[in-house]
Amino acid sequence: MSYLVFARKWRPQSFEEVLSQDHVTITLKNAIDTNRIGHAYLLTGPRGVGKTTTARILAKALNCEKGPTSSPCQQCDSCRSITAGNHLDVREIDGASNRGIDQIRDLREKARYATASGKYKIYIIDEVHMLTNEAFNALLKILEEPPESVVFIFATTQPRKVPDTILSRCQRFDFRRIPVSDMSEYLKSEAASEGINLDNTALSLICRASGGSLRDALSLMDQLVSFTGNDIKGEEVLKLFGMVKTELLADITSSILAGNTAAAIDHVSGALAEGYSVDELLDALIIFLRNLLLITTGAQNSLGDVPESERRFLMKLAKNLPDLAVLNILRIFSNAAVEVKRSNLPRVTLETAVMTASKLSRIFSIKDLPPVAEKVAQSCIQAEQETLPEEELADTESDSPSVLNEQPSAEAAADNETIEEVGVSSEVDSADDENDEEKEKETSREILGLFDAV
Ligand SMILES: [Zn+2]
Repeated sequence: MSYLVFARKWRPQSFEEVLSQDHVTITLKNAIDTNRIGHAYLLTGPRGVGKTTTARILAKALNCEKGPTSSPCQQCDSCRSITAGNHLDVREIDGASNRGIDQIRDLREKARYATASGKYKIYIIDEVHMLTNEAFNALLKILEEPPESVVFIFATTQPRKVPDTILSRCQRFDFRRIPVSDMSEYLKSEAASEGINLDNTALSLICRASGGSLRDALSLMDQLVSFTGNDIKGEEVLKLFGMVKTELLADITSSILAGNTAAAIDHVSGALAEGYSVDELLDALIIFLRNLLLITTGAQNSLGDVPESERRFLMKLAKNLPDLAVLNILRIFSNAAVEVKRSNLPRVTLETAVMTASKLSRIFSIKDLPPVAEKVAQSCIQAEQETLPEEELADTESDSPSVLNEQPSAEAAADNETIEEVGVSSEVDSADDENDEEKEKETSREILGLFDAV
């Protein structure tokens, strides 16, 4: 038997099998069951979420020998030939490569002929927004007076590029990105049926990298199976897709927030030595900081597809962290990302951004960071497999010393009181200290001014 990629092998054949698009499939089923069949449907949404698949199932539902039916039999000649892609009355046209007026005129001529064997003549036009204006005008003429048994199903990722005159003649269905929970459950069960083991870290990394596109997730699975065989672990996903480890991002961010410039630079050097490019590292840092900012500002509902391990770490890190500090660090790195593209020495730009950002702690007096940041990150990652209770995580923290924890252990123990102490102790401190602090703040402001960060 020839090899089939997962996206084809696991392609849904009925409305019920289409993942996470119930708002579309239920409406379509009801319309078919009540015999309210339109002449033109527009399926919109991001790529790889089931638009073309649904178009084929709709074609099958209309042309099944027992139909029109919302549950095509899958057995009759019509159903089988639509599944195989060779039904004479169901034509799939790629709008990107057949975008001219001649192709649409040709289609208009052929649409007038009677059906070969099916009940409906169905044209599925993928990426319909790619058609030229003339082609759209020709298409409009058919839609204005559609032949009795012709049904058009248009699919597009960019509905805004479809003229209003066409839109107003279509029943429109908006497809959504697949939520991580649904995708994760689906991949796990489909993989299991193929004898493929996916650990939880690998699963959440694949879901995240797919950006809500099931087709992308399945292509990633294909690559991973070729790369590692049937036992897929998180480490291998990171390696194959050049994704930056959460622990590493956590280390860099914690060092910056603790004002430990040397440690932050060391972590960056380590990452570059491991083979990550400056761009990859910057992009990953920006996304990590963006997620941290969402939490510090209380907008965690917008976090989206963040794996549970990372979410837990971010929540810990965000405790007592001023959102303004995170916002400014994020802006420093966003500016650096733009600058890196123009620079002949991108590494220097990245290092300068790290140094500038780590000076920020002086302005914001960030001294209440969770101690032993990288251990926290590590235990969170491990917790992916065996969800650790909070207390155990706390134990891991206090047991392990770290270079990042600059506080002496006595202070670390009293770490809940640190912020108050900073406030009180300044009364005892001499005026010189205050002057020094003022000078440092002044210097930091000047540096930040260069980056247009505050
Ligand atoms: Zn059938």
